[in-house]
Amino acid sequence: MGEQWIYLNDQFVKKEDAKISVYDHGFLYGDGVFEGIRVYDGNVFRLREHIDRLYQSAKSIMLKIPYSEEEFIDLIVQTIEKNNLRDAYIRPVVSRGVGDLGLDPFNCKRANVVIIAEPLSIFPKELYETGIEIVTVATRRNRPDVLSPKVKSLNYLNNILVKLEAHLANVSEALMLNDQGYVAEGSADNVFIIKGNKILTPPGYIGALEGITRSVIIEIATNLGYEMKEEPFTRHDVYTADEVFLTGTAAEVIAVVKVDGRVIGDGIPGQHTQKLLKVFREKVVSDGVKVYSAPTNVNVG
Ligand code: PMP
Repeated sequence: MGEQWIYLNDQFVKKEDAKISVYDHGFLYGDGVFEGIRVYDGNVFRLREHIDRLYQSAKSIMLKIPYSEEEFIDLIVQTIEKNNLRDAYIRPVVSRGVGDLGLDPFNCKRANVVIIAEPLSIFPKELYETGIEIVTVATRRNRPDVLSPKVKSLNYLNNILVKLEAHLANVSEALMLNDQGYVAEGSADNVFIIKGNKILTPPGYIGALEGITRSVIIEIATNLGYEMKEEPFTRHDVYTADEVFLTGTAAEVIAVVKVDGRVIGDGIPGQHTQKLLKVFREKVVSDGVKVYSAPTNVNVG
């Protein structure tokens, strides 16, 4: 890759020059929102949904993004084109902006807007062939009435603590329970379990980010004729499931073959998980915003 261009507050700057003040409240207090978006062969997958989620997160914390949603979509497309990328990971970040050392967000006059586009560093292929092992960690998911997990905010400490515990247990991802002990999600992925023809994922009120990949998988599973339900479940249900998998923009659909030392199913990625991944991968190249070959405001979503 040649020069990397970052979109920073109304202009493109070189990566080395993309700098933000230490008085930015995103840095000082984690006050801001972000997204993680993927581009598949010049096709920005579910861009509209990601931008909707970004704006809803911002609205929830009363953060004004200084562009319309349509303008933001266009800026994402421009950032991909500027960096000549076909397969990429896009990270839009909107922070509260520069203020003083006090907490008051109203002292921050303008949000800082950053869009980073990088070539994709995909998960190693072997992980899809072997599946992954995870553990349940002690860290519980933020209670939705304290800090809603539906807000994809820059305050990711809850998730970072999960990642930290996962690393200490020598695994790459982990399950978080909610305050009542129901399974919520991974550090940066949603979770699904399969038993017979039934597929379950925790409902929104359990406390999880409503993942875009999650919604696509719910759609695919329903269309394939599975009994797809959003229903609370416990660790016991995970241990005794036929198949378990995680979903996320980066991970796509990844089989979990061991949880807290319990082997799931036959200990290899199951047929249903593989089928869902296959259909998902067919969809990603056809379903989204075409960056290079179509006007940017059609076929959105
Ligand atoms: N949960 C959390 C906490 C996440 O950070 C992510 C990644 N954005 C997900 C779930 C998966 O969401 P998506 O499918 O939209 O990437």
